[in-house]
Amino acid sequence: MRLCRYDDDKLGLIRGDQLFDATAALTHLPSLSWPVPPGDHLIANLDVMRPALEAAADDSHPVPVDSVALLSPVANPNKIIGAPVNYHKHHEEAVADSEINLGRDIKTIDTYGLFMKANSSLVGPSQGVDLHFTDRRNDHEVELAMIIGQGGSDISRKDAMAHVAAYAIGLDMTVRGTEDRSLRKGIDTYSVLGPWLVTADEIADPDKLDLEILVNDEVRQKSNTEFLIFDCAKLIEYTSSFMTLYPGDIIMTGTPEGVGPVVPGDTMHAAIEGIGTMSVPVRAHEA
Ligand code: MN
Repeated sequence: MRLCRYDDDKLGLIRGDQLFDATAALTHLPSLSWPVPPGDHLIANLDVMRPALEAAADDSHPVPVDSVALLSPVANPNKIIGAPVNYHKHHEEAVADSEINLGRDIKTIDTYGLFMKANSSLVGPSQGVDLHFTDRRNDHEVELAMIIGQGGSDISRKDAMAHVAAYAIGLDMTVRGTEDRSLRKGIDTYSVLGPWLVTADEIADPDKLDLEILVNDEVRQKSNTEFLIFDCAKLIEYTSSFMTLYPGDIIMTGTPEGVGPVVPGDTMHAAIEGIGTMSVPVRAHEA
C-alpha cells in the first residue's frame, strides 16, 4: 500500500499515477484523550486501518498524483533519527572535502553512533526546503527512510525488520559548519519525507535499493543501499539498544557519496527504487 498525506491533511492511496482519497477512513481511528501515547496515531494503527483505507479509496474518484500538494506521510513522529557517515564512499568524500570536514578528522557511524533531527524540521515535498544561512554551504543528502510500526527497545537483529511499517524517501538537509549535527540538520524544513510511504510488504530487500538525487538536471548522488555500513536491521538493533522506538519514528539511514550544495531556486529530484520519486523546491528563508 502506498499512503500519502496531502493538501489540508487528507489521506490518499496511490495506485499507479492516480491518487484515491481515503480520508473518510479516519473515522475508524480509535479516539484519543490526553495524554496521547507517544508516536504517530495513524502509523500505530496502520494494520487495522488498512481495510478501511482501501475501502474508502475504492469509493473515491481518482485525481492525478501531481495535482495535489504532498505533505510528510508521517504527521507526528516521536523522533527522527539520523545515521552519520554510514557509507564508506561518503566517508571518503568527507575526508577529502575541506568544506565538509572543516579541518576535523571524519570517522564513520561506528565512532559517531546516531544523532537526532528535530521533529519541527519535518516537511513534505510540496513544502520545499527553506534555506537558512545562505552565506554557508547547504547540502542535500538523499537517504532511505525507515518508518517504525511496532515499537520496542532492545530489538534483536533477527526481529528488527518486523518493526518496520513502511519506507519513504528522506532528505537529510545539512548546513555545513562546526555546530553539532543535531543543530545543523534540525533546522525548519531540513527533514523532507515523501512522496508517500510504501508499506514494508512491498519492499523485498531494503538493503538493495537504488537511490539517487538530481539537482535541477544534474545527477549528484547515485548509489544503492547495499553499501550501507550499518544496514537496516543493524540500525534498528543499535538504535533500540539506546532508546525505545515508537510507531512513526523515522530512521534516516544515511547518505551515499555525492553530497553537494543547493541554492535558492534549485529543485531537487530524489528517487528510490520501489518507492517513487519526489521533487522538492529550494528557496531562501525570510526571517
Ligand atoms: Mn544524513
